[in-house]
Amino acid sequence: MSSIARRSSVQVTIGAVRVGGGAPIVVQSMTNTDTADAEGTAQQVKSLARAGSEVVRITVNSAEAAAAVPHIRERLDQMGVSVPLVGDFHFNGHKLLREHPACAEALAKYRINPGNVGRGSKRDPQFAEMIEMACRYGKPVRIGVNWGSLDQDLLMRLMDENAERAEPLTAQQIMRNAVVLSALESAERAESLGMSHDRIILSAKVSGVQDLIAIYSDLAARCDYPLHLGLTEAGMGSKGIVASTAGMAVLLQRGIGDTIRVSLTPEPGGDRTQEVIVAQEILQTMGLRAFLPLVTACPGCGRTTSTVFQELAQSIQSHIRHRMPEWRREYDGVEDMTVAVMGCVVNGPGESKHANIGISLPGTGERPVAPVYEDGEKTVTLKGDHIAEEFQELLERYVARRFTKKSVQDTAAA
Ligand code: SF4
Repeated sequence: MSSIARRSSVQVTIGAVRVGGGAPIVVQSMTNTDTADAEGTAQQVKSLARAGSEVVRITVNSAEAAAAVPHIRERLDQMGVSVPLVGDFHFNGHKLLREHPACAEALAKYRINPGNVGRGSKRDPQFAEMIEMACRYGKPVRIGVNWGSLDQDLLMRLMDENAERAEPLTAQQIMRNAVVLSALESAERAESLGMSHDRIILSAKVSGVQDLIAIYSDLAARCDYPLHLGLTEAGMGSKGIVASTAGMAVLLQRGIGDTIRVSLTPEPGGDRTQEVIVAQEILQTMGLRAFLPLVTACPGCGRTTSTVFQELAQSIQSHIRHRMPEWRREYDGVEDMTVAVMGCVVNGPGESKHANIGISLPGTGERPVAPVYEDGEKTVTLKGDHIAEEFQELLERYVARRFTKKSVQDTAAA
């Protein structure tokens, strides 16, 4: 599957990762560890990167966190994890960057929230200092507006202007305008301070899907900076996934968005990598990028009264995700593979024939056999108590036979 070029013609590089300018849409994520805990943060960054996050953001909110950043980078390098780190700065970012040059150097990008760089008269000089630091260290920035921390001076200005209108805008329209203007005016200011145009990425995050679509559509029409898409405070579980997908899919389909992050609230003790998996699945199911083989599974119905079918679908999905880092290193194009796991003979064989490799389990009352199809041809029929293990072995053999081994140089680079 080929990657689709997105609308921004400007390309920004974050470490070795390219965003915009025809590059594939980049998946990113953010840690939730205390950054001052260098080892814990490095381990979480590693697992996010292993799950497929191409850029990882860490909060830099204190002197301890800033001091830990170079150690996190060093630890990641020791572990062979080259993912670029982005520093998330708020009120004291200017000071932390000034007082911790090793932190400023170790980060590949700085995220600046124009609504949180400082209040009143402190805002402009502190914003300017962060931009100066980014210029000095040759780092790109994301000007990341968030409606929860919107620039209050700008909002007041727009409200005053609105009061003069013959037909005043609604509060929601003013908020949307303020979010867009905050991003655009801050980017203009950054450029006037010396930041080059191709070192700026914009984001304008809100928590409502319709607001997100309206704001990013407006932003995309008014600038050519690469855009970082994301719904902020998307929420937990299915609500967060559905809301993020609903908003981002509409924008991505319109060609808007160069990098995405899905902001999910993890379940207590839940796995942070879920946000990476969801982001990849949004892009892959939309046909915009391929990350790992897709498993097509039927929903099951009254013809599948045992749990064997669900268990097999789940074990194949986990097996693929677990094996993918090695497969990706070793085989060309394996991420485009499709696997079908079907519950009975009604649609099972047909769907299996369309996949690279598929299995159709016996439905209730059917003969206890599971035909396997490879490249449209029935190759074997599995039966007995070890169908899952045997199908995994067939899958491994299929990958080794069907996909070309990468050269040694390619394997080293992957
Ligand atoms: S393939 Fe069979 S088990 Fe699956 S949903 Fe269709 S009829 Fe039901």
